[in-house]
Amino acid sequence: MEIYPNIHNIVSENKTGQGITNAYLVTGTTGSVLIDTGWKSDEQSERIISYINKIDCTTLKYIIVTHRHPPHWGNSEFVKKQTDADIISTVIEAPYINDYFENYKVDIEIDDNLDIDLGNFQISVMKTPGHTSGTLAVFEKENKYLFPGDTIMEKGTSVINPEDGKIADYLKTIDNFIKIEPNVIFPGQGAPITETLEKLTSLIAHRSDREQEIINLLKQKEYSVDELFAQIYENLSEWLSHLAKNQITSHLIKLEDEGKVTKDQNMYKLIDF
Ligand SMILES: [Zn+2]
Repeated sequence: MEIYPNIHNIVSENKTGQGITNAYLVTGTTGSVLIDTGWKSDEQSERIISYINKIDCTTLKYIIVTHRHPPHWGNSEFVKKQTDADIISTVIEAPYINDYFENYKVDIEIDDNLDIDLGNFQISVMKTPGHTSGTLAVFEKENKYLFPGDTIMEKGTSVINPEDGKIADYLKTIDNFIKIEPNVIFPGQGAPITETLEKLTSLIAHRSDREQEIINLLKQKEYSVDELFAQIYENLSEWLSHLAKNQITSHLIKLEDEGKVTKDQNMYKLIDF
């Protein structure tokens, strides 16, 4: 549905209950772009194509995939086949996405900002590492609309798995988002965010509180990730526990990179600083 003038959200839901993901269609006067494509399913593929046909928008020029996680590239191949739009991602994410693809490859791998003229919209595709090392965001300059993929979600904070991305990069990306002062954030999941500064500063505060909590525990003694997890979290499901432990590991990697923590076997120790 059209959620802002010429901004449409074609929502997809994962049947296994892993969540709802947004796919944004931005309709310009000289061309349109699709930002992410949702969980892969015949239903969502058909939904996107019938939506594009129904609203009779200008030619779909690009399918912009924000990052490697499945609910974002999900139906890209189907949409490409039907529309012949070029698939855009970053040089870092493209190999991961290409691995999943059966018939196509990412057409345009960006290693720097890419400006796209859609007539009434001037958009910029920007590298915004953190959630994954090659995540990108789309920024519409005149209205200051930001499409950050999973870097920002309507509720809570996004997951940073140590094998995917880094908290230090994520914090720099959020800082850069604060500098560009978006009017509206269209997150990878959930509804548009208009209290953008409040949201962005709360994301930084959340990570810094968690880091301080870990440092305070390490001031007492050495800890493993599992022990830190037991101190910080309670009553989480198995899946959420797995994600929470990954967040702790990502924080510890940041502290190690900064020379504040050392690791011996699986135990982490605070260095005096
Ligand atoms: Zn993701």
